[in-house]
Amino acid sequence: MKKYFFAAVAILLAFDVAVPIHANADCFSQRMAMDTLRKDDIDPVCKMKVKAGITRTHVHYKTVYGFCSEGCKKSFVKQPEKYLKK
Ligand SMILES: [Zn+2]
Repeated sequence: MKKYFFAAVAILLAFDVAVPIHANADCFSQRMAMDTLRKDDIDPVCKMKVKAGITRTHVHYKTVYGFCSEGCKKSFVKQPEKYLKK
């Protein structure tokens, strides 16, 4: 009977340890990929106004760009240079 108890404890410990590490890694990578727009700005793809505080953003060379839609964001992520050319 003791054997099963230890096996159960081992499984619980494995879950306890594995789950938070995985969750933190997810959170960390999301934080790296996403940032909040700090000021009103212009969507570089369609030139629409975007509001400060939105999280549909992409960081490119330490600059946070905000987007009106996922479509615009995807276009930008694919070819940022295309939209940053002046
Ligand atoms: Zn847009």
